[in-house]
Amino acid sequence: KKTVEILGISFFHTTREELKDIILQRAVRGEKCFIVTGNPEIVMHAKKNPEYLHVIRSADYVIPDGSGIILASKILKRPLAERIAGFDFMGDMLRIAAERSLSVYLLGAEDEVVKTAAANIRKQYPNIRIAGFHHGYFDLRDEEVARRVVAANPDFIFVALGFPKQEIWIHRYLPMFEKGVFMGVGGSFDVLAG
Ligand code: UDP
Repeated sequence: KKTVEILGISFFHTTREELKDIILQRAVRGEKCFIVTGNPEIVMHAKKNPEYLHVIRSADYVIPDGSGIILASKILKRPLAERIAGFDFMGDMLRIAAERSLSVYLLGAEDEVVKTAAANIRKQYPNIRIAGFHHGYFDLRDEEVARRVVAANPDFIFVALGFPKQEIWIHRYLPMFEKGVFMGVGGSFDVLAG
């Protein structure tokens, strides 16, 4: 895969359309996959924090979320194809899930928020399979939450714990899963809950 390195992080050179195809293929084949929505905050945090850099480097795809990343790639004379906003791509994944009968799990945000986000997703995509949801206020070391997500057997797992927590959670518990496309989505559930 073609990548562009910015401060030690390899960004995936792709378009939103191509990424949608790749994710669908991986989900259909039941392959595990970890997507990081790389924005300047994440890059700067990883630069200062080797453990977090290791977590980000373990991702299958770091996508350029934010015009700052696109600008940096242009300055480096290795321009990335286009900005792919995490929130927009979550929308793409929800649509794919609804069309292909893939299931989704929502992990993170306040209890009321994640509940309302799930209800609003159901309204927008009546056919969608929601494997489950869980709020994001628990100890990261608590394996019980991960076990629950594993038991729900979801195809897409959206983790909204804010960075760096969400990427750390995915990196830590990915080995417990047999399948699933994982993506940290920051404050997206708050937006979906309205
Ligand atoms: N959050 C959470 N658990 C925590 C801390 C935060 O579930 O321990 C949630 C919070 O409720 C919000 C999201 O994570 O829904 C953080 O959103 P923010 O916009 O701050 O994300 P960032 O842009 O920092 O990644």
